[in-house]
Amino acid sequence: MSILRCINCGAQYDISRKYFRCDRCGDLLEVTHKIENYRPAQMKGVWKYKDLIHPDLEEKFIVTRGEGDTFLYEHELISEFTGIKEIRLKHEGENPTGSFKDRGMTVAVSHGKFIGARHTICASTGNTSASASSYSSLAGMKSSVLIPKGKISRVKLIQSMAYGAEIVEVQGDFDKAMENLESLVKQNQYLYTLNSLNPWRLEGQKTIFYEIMDRLKEIDFILVPAGNLGNTSALGKAIADYYELGIISKKPKIAAIQAEGASPFYKMWHNKRDRIEPVAAETVASAIRIGNPVNWKKAIWAINYTEGIVETVSDSEILEAKKIIDKSGIGSEPASAASVAGAKKLREKGIIDKYDRVAAVLTGHVLKDIDNIAGNGPIIDFNTFLDKIKAEF
Ligand SMILES: *Cc1c(COP(=O)(O)O)cnc(C)c1O
Repeated sequence: MSILRCINCGAQYDISRKYFRCDRCGDLLEVTHKIENYRPAQMKGVWKYKDLIHPDLEEKFIVTRGEGDTFLYEHELISEFTGIKEIRLKHEGENPTGSFKDRGMTVAVSHGKFIGARHTICASTGNTSASASSYSSLAGMKSSVLIPKGKISRVKLIQSMAYGAEIVEVQGDFDKAMENLESLVKQNQYLYTLNSLNPWRLEGQKTIFYEIMDRLKEIDFILVPAGNLGNTSALGKAIADYYELGIISKKPKIAAIQAEGASPFYKMWHNKRDRIEPVAAETVASAIRIGNPVNWKKAIWAINYTEGIVETVSDSEILEAKKIIDKSGIGSEPASAASVAGAKKLREKGIIDKYDRVAAVLTGHVLKDIDNIAGNGPIIDFNTFLDKIKAEF
């Protein structure tokens, strides 16, 4: 029921394929399904939507940790901060390894098991590697992760080490690691890629949107931090699925939010260029410190399809938003705060209205990247505390 199709030349491939670039033109592949009579499955989380993400997969191949079913938060502080009354935060940090990557990983690794993959590989700013190593180990596969030396959060690195991945440090940034991975997997096609270059990842990540819409029925905007642009692409595909199935009658606009210092997609969209110009990326939000995003073609389709927007936020805007998210008791890593910072900025520009119904995706857990926690209060000693308590009477 599903095939792989090149997004550029339309060449088609069987789903047993392990290598995810087109043999003819080298462009990205996407998964397309023939969906008839869609019905949710009697499963939880991501796999409830099996018929929309991997209908051909036999259940015995499913490698899952119960990902998905994350909480949708509302909080006065977030509404005040952004100036948007009905803003809700979908917290993807509540997935098993602490980021949305698990939604894509359960599908990509299950698919890998189905096609006989034994050795997985990914390049990562940290969360992909944490997730890839967990799911690979769960499936009994060997995993290797390429990380930019000294440029990922130590917590994320420790996660990958704990789950038993082979850690490979690359001199340079994430984009260099990704470049190394691309040439490696082209030469060694038995290596199974778990980056969002793997279109099965995007199939799993579509379920963020399905879950939001099953709750809210109709929204005007959905905001997402944008790095390698896998999530932006997956959102577009998910919106198309629900729209074409008649489950939603209005397409929400996607707002992809980049960090100012890592915003090649914004520049492309804003200047109406027809291709991405890679940049040297720098931002405190290490998960979106990406200068040459692999999924830009799919992502620009998603933005255009929903008449969406691309915006940038500065590091100080990101950290300001993070402070509010943390203080509200919800908490997130810095990259995630880009979506809330973006909501505030788009409200101030008048692009989002005060009464628009808005969902913003928090991509990762508060403990994922602890180098930039400003905190919302000082640590005091016990005697100072006693004096404060006395003063309260
Ligand atoms: C991977 C990641 C992103 C970037 O997502 P893309 O799909 O690559 O755009 C953003 N935030 C966090 C926390 C991530 O782990």
